[in-house]
Amino acid sequence: MSVIPFKNEPLTDFSVPANKAAYEAALEKVRGDFGKHWELLIAGERVASEKKIESYDPADPNTVVGSVGKANKEQALKAIDTAHEFFQNEWRFFDGHARARILLRSAAMLRARKHEFSATMTYEESKNWVEADADTAEAIDFLEFYAREMMRLDREQEVVPYPGDENNLYYVPLGVAVVIPPWNFPLAIMAGMTTAALVTGNTVVLKPASTAPIIAAKFIDLLLEAGMPAKAITFCPGSGGEVGDTLVDHPKTRLIAFTGSKEIGLRIHERAAKVNEGQLWIKRTILEMGGKDGMVVDETADLDYAADMAVAGAYGFQGQKCSACSRLIAVDAIYDELVDKVVERTKKLKIDHPSKNPNMGAVIDAASHGKILEYIEKAKNDGNEVMCGGKAIEGGYFVEPTVVKNVKDTDTIAQEEIFGPVLACIRATDFEDALRIFNGTEFGLTGGLISNVRERLERARREFHVGNLYLNRKITGALVGVQPFGGFNMSGTDSKAGGQDYLGLFMQGKSVTEKF
Ligand code: NAP
Repeated sequence: MSVIPFKNEPLTDFSVPANKAAYEAALEKVRGDFGKHWELLIAGERVASEKKIESYDPADPNTVVGSVGKANKEQALKAIDTAHEFFQNEWRFFDGHARARILLRSAAMLRARKHEFSATMTYEESKNWVEADADTAEAIDFLEFYAREMMRLDREQEVVPYPGDENNLYYVPLGVAVVIPPWNFPLAIMAGMTTAALVTGNTVVLKPASTAPIIAAKFIDLLLEAGMPAKAITFCPGSGGEVGDTLVDHPKTRLIAFTGSKEIGLRIHERAAKVNEGQLWIKRTILEMGGKDGMVVDETADLDYAADMAVAGAYGFQGQKCSACSRLIAVDAIYDELVDKVVERTKKLKIDHPSKNPNMGAVIDAASHGKILEYIEKAKNDGNEVMCGGKAIEGGYFVEPTVVKNVKDTDTIAQEEIFGPVLACIRATDFEDALRIFNGTEFGLTGGLISNVRERLERARREFHVGNLYLNRKITGALVGVQPFGGFNMSGTDSKAGGQDYLGLFMQGKSVTEKF
């Protein structure tokens, strides 16, 4: 391979005045684009729709960031049919290295405009500068990483030679990939799933999350500018409830790459298993879902450090990460002291409009805002003690960062994914009990242990049943290539995005033998 080895995109240091000024300029540019509308993109053409989806600033819900067309059922059906046609006739024969080069070009263009993309997320998803910058860096990483991965896979694979024959094994694409991302990493996850499918030779029908369509629309524009054939990528926003089933059920849909909640992931899993009329294959699903991630702290830990890690994991992006620390499991000997330290730090977090780069912005929408506050009420009814936060703040969908004490491991807020800034603190009698509590949910995404006991760290490696385990650090912030990402149990199919196994999920192996 004649490109330099992959390395992660560095994060921006906003204490450097020039970087700060560049981000402020990007915020202004994005504000200047407010109200812009993007049509659907089907069969390489921009297509008008009867309805549109307006995207709002969660920290200032009267502000419309932009709008996109909203596909109806007929348009969703056409999206799959035309993507299938282009796949059959052209895209699957397109050179794999050439597809990879489009990703490298897209990465270079995204790097050049990184603050503009990040600033879009500051308004559309209420990400502060640091969180938005990390999202964009991760998107660049996916483009760079998957381009190199495709270059590695785009050749004959090794097989055992056999006398009198030539034997080859190739990886070939599957067909139409329906890509359904969540809103919480609206650039990184959306771009990662979309470009993994494209670079491996599948055509994509992208249905972005309805609360994050603008950043997706901008990314599609960038892909087209970088030379992606317009017919390879269909932009098909629409309500999950209205067009989601149509896209999943279509007999020409070959695979579905989904990241989102357990409920929708399981629905897709079930529907994709049904063979519909005219369907020639078993649909493949890649499903990455929710979490109830825990961090265990034992009596040998440095409690100041542990509290810093808990707070960073619990409240980054308002706790709306699938990897967020939502359960702090501390052994009895240090439980009260640790919770006090967590409360002290949490009270210092600043909440504001994310364009001002506070610690926290707003949660995504009114529904989410209401649901989080309901969970806090439920915690009180269960007899849990709210130590700080717990209330809404006027002006946008803001929720105070909330620490809840004396939570039993079976309580609702210790079991269900809240997806907001609420940390449930659970008391364990000892390390053994903490291990039991840690594994005692239906999820298995991320988790960690802070301890100075070697034997416990080794046991955590073996017995903490999660796809991404972090020892003696925070439990969020997986890096592409470094910590391939995906969860166990009801957290998903463990596809390990950003790892060497990922692109294989978008292809199938074809063995060819010629006898001489
Ligand atoms: P969600 O409500 O499940 O939505 C995810 C996507 O599914 C959206 O694009 C949504 O469209 C679409 N959808 C809704 N109903 C559908 C249907 N019947 N058929 C097909 N698609 C449908 O999840 P979310 O609120 O966007 O994201 C938060 C969840 O994602 C959390 O549970 C979080 O843990 C999880 N997550 C997991 C990972 C991971 O790697 N494991 C990473 C990030 C997030 P609409 O927006 O139009 O409803």
